[in-house]
Amino acid sequence: MKEKDIYKELFEMYDPFYTVNMLEKTMIPLLRIQFTPKEAELAVTIGFEGGKIEALSEKTGIEKGKLKKILNIMADKGTVWIDPATEDPVYKTIGLAGPGLVETGGWGNIRFPHHVSLMKALHHFEVEFGKKWLPAIGAPVARVWATPAALPEDAKPEENVAEMIKDAGIWGVSNCSCRQPHWITDPGNHCEHYLETCLFMGDMVRWGLERKMCREITYEEAVDLLKTCNENGLVHTHDPGEFICNCCYDCCVFFVGIRSTDAPILSPSEFIPRFDDDNCSACGICADRCPVDAIEVEDTAAVDLGKCLGCGVCFPTCPAESIQFERRV
Ligand code: SF4
Ligand code: SF4
Repeated sequence: MKEKDIYKELFEMYDPFYTVNMLEKTMIPLLRIQFTPKEAELAVTIGFEGGKIEALSEKTGIEKGKLKKILNIMADKGTVWIDPATEDPVYKTIGLAGPGLVETGGWGNIRFPHHVSLMKALHHFEVEFGKKWLPAIGAPVARVWATPAALPEDAKPEENVAEMIKDAGIWGVSNCSCRQPHWITDPGNHCEHYLETCLFMGDMVRWGLERKMCREITYEEAVDLLKTCNENGLVHTHDPGEFICNCCYDCCVFFVGIRSTDAPILSPSEFIPRFDDDNCSACGICADRCPVDAIEVEDTAAVDLGKCLGCGVCFPTCPAESIQFERRV
């Protein structure tokens, strides 16, 4: 099979809504960097279902020891998932997102010599992904979590992201897979947030540690990271069972999509801010921090609930302490 055909085949495998051409211009160059032609062929053969080494060896005709070695290299590159801490694991081609190629390249491939070209290809792909693929889904792909410090007393444990990650047993952190590619692609023209803000839980940490894609932290450090990220204006999103993104307006694929379309890419948290008009000094700090321009300040601050994500970024820096959160009705 010709080299270009296998990349096209791999691209079509990654195109779950058959929106061919939507991402082809930026995705095929990314696939060419992330997969050698032989790896691309292997990824197509084992697919997203994958299997154990015995079955995959039979399917591919590659001897078990050799196949294991190839699949481990692919896992280090973030293109294959290997069930962590299991003696006879399932190996499968990693999906597109959540966690998938959009994330794992940015977390791990920095160790490979072609990392600059990879980061550039990843950034260009992520911009297209945010602007075209996410809005095409037509429904939110992830949710926002109100920052724990802002939660009202009646918040339930399942509405508190700090509670939701409590029982994970193991926690980790890595560089943000949106911010790092953006910074490397466009040096000096990007946000100034920390890079190390992707919070992992459970098997994602075990896998990330085996692949040296993250470092382990304690639960207390994970909660502290959420607090610091909120204070620095980052929005907690995604799934506490796997990983929590701390998203900035500048680099995050979700916000690339939100900036360029009205599509419902993120579903808001259960909470909204309420401003104390008697205390508000109309300083405008909350409006400047809001990632979706949901706050207008004239004599006092007022929020557009249609835009508000309920993230709590406006909460921690109000000098008058006049912002409280309450349940969205
Ligand atoms: S007003 Fe803005 S910063 Fe405050 S919770 Fe809503 S989206 Fe977040
Ligand atoms: S930060 Fe506080 S005091 Fe300043 S405008 Fe917002 S609510 Fe008012």
